[in-house]
Amino acid sequence: MSEAELHFLTGRMNGAKLAAAGRGELRFPLPVGLVYDEEGATIIDPDAEVAAAVADVFSAFRSAGSAYGVVAAFKGRRFPLRAYGGTWAGELRWGRLTHARVLNILANPAYAGVYVYGRYHSSRIVSPEGRISTKVTELPRAEWPIVIFDHHPGYISWDDYLANATRLAANTTNAGARPPREGAALCQGIITCGSCGRPMSTRYHANGHPAYECSASRADQMATKTCRSIAASSVDDAVAEALLDALNPDEVALALAAADEVAKRRASRSRASELAVERARYEAERAERAFLACEPENRLVARSLEARWEARLELLTEAEKTFATEMAAAPVLPGRAELEALTGDVAALWHARSTTPKDRKRLLRTLVADVTLLPEPDFAKARIGIVWHSGATDEIVVARPLRVTEYRRTDPAAVEFARRHANLSNTDLAELLNAAGYLTGAGRVFDNDAVASLRRYRGVPQPQLLQDGEVTVADIARELGITNGAVIHWISRGWLFARRGLNDQWCIPFGPGVEAACRERAARSAHIHALDSTEPQAAHELTVGEVAALLGISTNVVYYWIERHHVEARRGSSGRLFIAFGPNVEAACRERVALSVHLEAAAHPQTPRHTRNEAV
Ligand SMILES: [Zn+2]
Repeated sequence: MSEAELHFLTGRMNGAKLAAAGRGELRFPLPVGLVYDEEGATIIDPDAEVAAAVADVFSAFRSAGSAYGVVAAFKGRRFPLRAYGGTWAGELRWGRLTHARVLNILANPAYAGVYVYGRYHSSRIVSPEGRISTKVTELPRAEWPIVIFDHHPGYISWDDYLANATRLAANTTNAGARPPREGAALCQGIITCGSCGRPMSTRYHANGHPAYECSASRADQMATKTCRSIAASSVDDAVAEALLDALNPDEVALALAAADEVAKRRASRSRASELAVERARYEAERAERAFLACEPENRLVARSLEARWEARLELLTEAEKTFATEMAAAPVLPGRAELEALTGDVAALWHARSTTPKDRKRLLRTLVADVTLLPEPDFAKARIGIVWHSGATDEIVVARPLRVTEYRRTDPAAVEFARRHANLSNTDLAELLNAAGYLTGAGRVFDNDAVASLRRYRGVPQPQLLQDGEVTVADIARELGITNGAVIHWISRGWLFARRGLNDQWCIPFGPGVEAACRERAARSAHIHALDSTEPQAAHELTVGEVAALLGISTNVVYYWIERHHVEARRGSSGRLFIAFGPNVEAACRERVALSVHLEAAAHPQTPRHTRNEAV
């Protein structure tokens, strides 16, 4: 078959293919979640688990709003994958849903019931080295050659598809503010996470400081315990130091000695060629002299002498050519002094302002093959592995500046210790921790507050507060529909027995007899039992704060008056106290203020007032 015939056939095949595609009949491997039925129509995968997994990708993206969110939602759940391998019926396998797969699914119009042909354009490119490779590019939506809407049942609508694409594009813009490769991060592109083996990416913080991040593992929820993000300067400074160290005078002296050796070898080789030329020239001259000395009438001898001279001349040309080639092939070696000056200045050169980050990277990469952030459980350290192009390796451990949340973290051993003795009071536990030699994250000894914050933030449980038959103030308040403050008031008056438990909290033995007495008291004291009125503040009513402001006294005084029934108040909506503050009441209050020289002393009622809502 001729070349032309082949070309024609391919053209006809492509034409037929295009026609079939135009009708939406050209089949190609479907993405997972869609299959061909017996008639060749595209349908949603009848395997319910597969269909549900695909549908959940779209709903997860709807709620999470990012592909990373979808990956997180699928953590621990398997996801169907279909092997693309030229065969229609791709084998169904199960695996992990990766970030890249989520992006592919969201971008595939097939899930919106749309038939698209020509979403990808492939072209052959010939590299300058003569290698041929196929480059596949995704065409923008507007350039898709064949688009058939409502071609088959989909998981989402076309509008959903477009909305997803818009949302994804917006997400990418956030991350897309990556500076070009000229960025200051020295190890960008050559640093790998030694914990999970993935390349680390470079991210620039808002303040311009770059950091290396093991983001690929995080995106795919594959991050190991020691995968981390690290300030680029922590790594760069160490690597730069190693680099400059490698170029220090001692190392350079060794390199120069080697260079001298090379120069010497080269000189001896070219000297040999030079000698060969000299010898050839001498031979040629001798042949010439012999020819010239020959008598012209002795023609036969003369001819043979001439031939010999010519042969010698040829040998000379050859030797000269060899010498010239050798001299040309050897690149000019920089002089020793020149080299010394250059390497002596490397540090200065490295730090010079005129040296761009790109120059530094280039210099680094001429010597360093790659950099690895080795696994290091200690957050205060970073272990950096350097592989030199020479094959040598270096390992550097540097102290790493910690974030506040990292270095202010209490030693896990102390937390564990506290957890084992959680049932002590804060003060006792603090004493025990101090006795055991532990310090807080800030390096101080433990006290009540420090233990309280361990309980609050580090999951150290609260101690068992109550003994059998005991309840808390809040329990009683809830049970009787009164405020905590009312209960505390009863305790302070001695009407209700309570003991101070751990951390000074009230523990109240609450048997049936006590409960009945409490209920009776609550029913009797109308001013305590004010929670039933939920009327909002009326026009003639003022809050405690308003009364205090009006009279120029502390709110504590007003609470005290209410408690002593000098002023009547009701508890209204949202639990606030409202005082019917008519002219008579105001006059009485002002008189009381004027009369009370000990107002300040009396202004601190015994009933502790924790919050506004608890006051009686
Ligand atoms: Zn990692």
